[in-house]
Amino acid sequence: MKPTDLSAEEFYAKRDNRTDTAGGVAGYQEARCRVTADPSALMTIEGQAMVLTVANLMSRWCRDIAMDIVDAPLLPSLARPGMTHLHARIQAEIQDADPFGRFVFGSDGSDERLTLGIARAPATISIDADGWRAHAGRGSEFMALPKDSNLTIGGIIAACFGVARIFKLACGIPDKAEMPWQLDAFTMTGSFGDSNRPSKIPTVDLGRVLLVGAGAVGSAICHFVPMLPVQADWLIVDHDQLKILNLNRSPLFGLSNVPDMKADICALLLREHGQRSAEAYPVDLGTFLNEHERKPNAWDLVLPEANEYGARLLLQSIAPPLMVHGTTGTRWDVTRSRHIPIEEACLACRYPNDGSQPSFVCSTGDIPVEGEVHRAALPFISPLAAVLALADVIKVAQSDIPLSPNAVYISLAEDDLFVARSRMRILRTCICRSQLDISRRYNAGSRFWKA
Ligand SMILES: [Zn+2]
Repeated sequence: MKPTDLSAEEFYAKRDNRTDTAGGVAGYQEARCRVTADPSALMTIEGQAMVLTVANLMSRWCRDIAMDIVDAPLLPSLARPGMTHLHARIQAEIQDADPFGRFVFGSDGSDERLTLGIARAPATISIDADGWRAHAGRGSEFMALPKDSNLTIGGIIAACFGVARIFKLACGIPDKAEMPWQLDAFTMTGSFGDSNRPSKIPTVDLGRVLLVGAGAVGSAICHFVPMLPVQADWLIVDHDQLKILNLNRSPLFGLSNVPDMKADICALLLREHGQRSAEAYPVDLGTFLNEHERKPNAWDLVLPEANEYGARLLLQSIAPPLMVHGTTGTRWDVTRSRHIPIEEACLACRYPNDGSQPSFVCSTGDIPVEGEVHRAALPFISPLAAVLALADVIKVAQSDIPLSPNAVYISLAEDDLFVARSRMRILRTCICRSQLDISRRYNAGSRFWKA
């Protein structure tokens, strides 16, 4: 049976499979939602990032959405071939995410909708963002942030937070948050203190990037890359075919992509959207490494987004260059980790048994570590992990920006947002301690070598 021959019932049974396995999730299928936005915000990159991401992520679970937003020409980094306006891109993405959904532009006059408001707009939950910062609170807690950046990071994060809060309400979970959810992705703190965050970032050349894993987080990275000032030659390794049950949590995948190889879908998107080059390797990591001799400075950056057993240890065994990744937990939680060779804990320090249990030294709070490597089930968790990884990549690629700690944990599970920064410990017995010379030999000419 081709995917297009499915009935709505068959489609939703597959598409919502992973969402339904998350604890405490029920009833969202009947929810009716509305998206509203301040028209002037929709002329800005922050506003466009918010509305595009909200519509995309909401359509991964909500079957009835009124998009009460004006149309506007898309800014160049957000336009797609043949899609020069907001409505056209939203329509294309949400219909491919869910061809059976009732999605309309304009108001249907109904008051019985959960409303997500973007910038200054009446809403159940309102969000706003600048280049780095994200706010999601009740409508009465609206907070305006300046729109003068060239960055979509804050907007994407605000969209993830806002859709998460609307999703909770759609599941009948009462909203008892005592304060708005706020994150400054520049400092990776849960409050908006003073910081010298640059609102404009020049385009960052990441050189040759090896993306290992094009699942929920890896594909979300590919979806967001064209929306950010980054440029690279990409190699994407993933041996998996796209299935309908993957459509609930990746902003990139649509029904029209089933059953293509995930690596091919991601590479095609990056090639079509301004990246210098993108090659797909639709094989497992072991096969890829067997077929590619490890040459000095082969890659400038590795994004380890595969969580199959053994993949992380295997990757560390080749003495990789700088690595940054986002992982998802089972309790509405994500961790962003960074591994600067020699200087910082490596991937095997973090997953000493390849495994399942990361190791931390907490600096600012206790970090729950149970259930770390399981697949995220909820529609906004993997995109959040992806954008947090990209935020750190952009920072680490600038020589003059202070880095936040190498691990940051964020949970959306409770009423209030939980953010903890921590330092991952270098394990003295880890493989990386025996790789100091070989790491220098293989990586000292790579773009982000810091040792
Ligand atoms: Zn190590």
